[in-house]
Amino acid sequence: MTKELFAIFGDPVDHSKSPMMHNYAFRKLGHPGCYGCYRLVRGEELRERFLSLGLRGVNVTVPHKEAAYRACDRLDDFARKVGAVNTIVKREGGLHGYNTDAPGFLRAIADLPGREVLFLGAGGTARATAAVLRDAGYRVTILNRSPGRLQAFREAGFETHTWEDFPPRSCELVVNMSSAGLKDENLPAPMEILEKVLEGAHGVVDVIYGRQTPFLKLATERGIPARDGSEMLLQQGVLAFDRFTDGRYRLEEVERWMREALSL
Ligand code: NDP
Repeated sequence: MTKELFAIFGDPVDHSKSPMMHNYAFRKLGHPGCYGCYRLVRGEELRERFLSLGLRGVNVTVPHKEAAYRACDRLDDFARKVGAVNTIVKREGGLHGYNTDAPGFLRAIADLPGREVLFLGAGGTARATAAVLRDAGYRVTILNRSPGRLQAFREAGFETHTWEDFPPRSCELVVNMSSAGLKDENLPAPMEILEKVLEGAHGVVDVIYGRQTPFLKLATERGIPARDGSEMLLQQGVLAFDRFTDGRYRLEEVERWMREALSL
């Protein structure tokens, strides 16, 4: 049987757990798919590479999510709204683009208590996720190191602060949406602010996965339930798989196998 080919495009990409998750789910579900890793240096070549490799679908990671958005012929409403694509599927009519990061994050925190959320960081992931959370009934405040990226959030009606003008207060759910702690030992905000916001927190989440960031360590030391970005990785993967296979399998079933692949 001919296999459908899938890949993750990014740079760097060799650390990605997506091939493991998707290949395991393909095998367990008996789907004729094979998923690989492809280091794409130049985002503007994404479309040509997709087509010349004969792919059926890709996931896209840093730094090409905006290039992926531009490479598509059709976009779903949410991807169009946020201007970033992490999942592309080839169908009749060309390349169809989706963003499963933010809905994946929503699924990843659905079981946590608290509807009042503080984002530490205001990058692309925060922008997509804030809108999805608000639509789902969460109250989201954005706290960022510098003012530049906050403008778009303010225009979209979110409460925003920089470290300088943040009135210290505790928050139910505190999320590191920044890249602080990804490859360094930085906290996503100054310690004085974190002490205050964590005081009454019911939970913290870090979107970074695969390592205990200084932020997660701080929360754990204070006895606050803390989770890294693995659950988000899993859930965005479940939703991407669903697009790749045109909804052929139950999400619970896909999630079961991907969770097993990630040992979560
Ligand atoms: P962007 O580059 O778009 O934004 C980075 C943000 O981090 C900015 O708000 C920036 O602040 C802030 N920041 C960077 N360094 C520091 C620091 N030392 N202290 C405080 N703030 C800092 O990043 P993305 O939104 O694309 O990604 C954010 C994180 O999300 C990454 O770590 C990425 O790996 C993770 N991610 C995880 C996923 C998963 O499945 N688990 C999926 C997608 C992303 P400033 O504006 O001041 O520069």
